[in-house]
Amino acid sequence: MRYVSTRSSVGDRARLGFDDVLLGGLAGDGGLYVPEHVPKLPDCARPDSYAELAARIMGPYVGGTVDDDGLAELVADAYATFDHPEVCPLVALDDDHWLLELFHGPTFAFKDVALQVVARLFDHELERRDERAMIVAATSGDTGSAAMEAVAGRDRLDIVVLHPAGRTSEIQRRQMTTLEAPNVHAAAVDGTFDDCQDLVKAMFGDERFRTESRLAAVNSINWARVAAQIVYYVWAAQRLAGDRPVTFCVPTGNFGNVLAGHYARRMGLRIGRLLIASNTNDILSRLIETGELATHDVTPTLSPSMDIQISSNLERLLFELFDGDGAATAELLGQFRARGRARLTPQQHQRLAAEFFGDRLNDRETLEVMGRVRAEAQMFIDPHTAVGVGVAQRGRRPGELVVSLATAHPAKFPEAVARATGSPPPAPLALAAVADRAERCTSLPNDAEAVKDFVRSVRRD
Ligand SMILES: *Cc1c(COP(=O)(O)O)cnc(C)c1O
Repeated sequence: MRYVSTRSSVGDRARLGFDDVLLGGLAGDGGLYVPEHVPKLPDCARPDSYAELAARIMGPYVGGTVDDDGLAELVADAYATFDHPEVCPLVALDDDHWLLELFHGPTFAFKDVALQVVARLFDHELERRDERAMIVAATSGDTGSAAMEAVAGRDRLDIVVLHPAGRTSEIQRRQMTTLEAPNVHAAAVDGTFDDCQDLVKAMFGDERFRTESRLAAVNSINWARVAAQIVYYVWAAQRLAGDRPVTFCVPTGNFGNVLAGHYARRMGLRIGRLLIASNTNDILSRLIETGELATHDVTPTLSPSMDIQISSNLERLLFELFDGDGAATAELLGQFRARGRARLTPQQHQRLAAEFFGDRLNDRETLEVMGRVRAEAQMFIDPHTAVGVGVAQRGRRPGELVVSLATAHPAKFPEAVARATGSPPPAPLALAAVADRAERCTSLPNDAEAVKDFVRSVRRD
């Protein structure tokens, strides 16, 4: 399996192996890596376990970087950290509407499903190369703790995660600051989330520092994360459907999760429709409706992990709509960056609208859905999941079999749940335990040199 950049052109393009794509993250020309060919679904009868299916689906993408037995072992180890034997269990909301619970990993949000595998793949490849890497990341919430949990205790990796001091929820901060592992480091920056992101960019932009510190990223544009997320679409369809097509509804921010569904379909999975659920920050739903990509300011909502205006993974889909023409993809994105808007051709818009359906819920509607699900199905759901469930309920067609992805455990958002339902959701023991543990966190000024010094000081050689 070879990968190409979304900004490269047919006659003149590098083809990289999975190992370089994994460690490199972003392509040298600023594009994202995509597989040159999409493999067909492996011919498998119902697999015994989620881990077994994951190894089979990911095998062709990993393409020899890890051999089959090694991959099976690595994936089994990753999913042994989950607190449910099915890893991603299905729960019925009603006869034809199911929740696929993706929050049974160590940090109780769906980022664990991919990051637990990706960190192990990093460690494996670095071991083979006899190298080390330092992961640096900025977080406003879920990604930071999921990356830290995944890296904790890995031999070849260290991680520094910057968060804006005083601006994450108590639970989210504690999930980062109470981890006991010598190779993970939480830092609170005196600034906003954007400041944290700029500091990370400044570190990557400093060539000398980047090389000397062996910086690496595990952000949502890393192809390995998309590959790991394809698995649960196949898993859910195999468990439920027999031969009925399944429609998936995906609460969406950076477009990584729904892109994985799109790849599952390209691999041959019978997917009915892919519903893209947005909160008030609905750039994707508007794109599908109008064919125009247009930014607005980001509005904070009850579903903060979806408060995004520029969905980085969309570039991979645009590349397809341009039939693999990287120069045209880059031009459209350049226009969008410069002017805040860019338009698809009518043909491209049609292709997009044939494959995806988009809708949005505001905060009031989100709370209503949470209340209704509690009353009717006796279940607590978190605000991100509720956005998806609401969009699915509204957009569902008669006789359609729908799976809504549940992306976070309700106990991660107790205030919103209590507001919607009148009572806080019960927290799993492991989540409740972070309240009592000692915190370890370094306070840093909003200053690139100070942050670099911190990274140097914690690096293990
Ligand atoms: C990250 C996240 C999302 C959005 O996923 P994308 O892959 O960015 O579209 C939705 N819900 C929760 C809880 C998340 O953490």
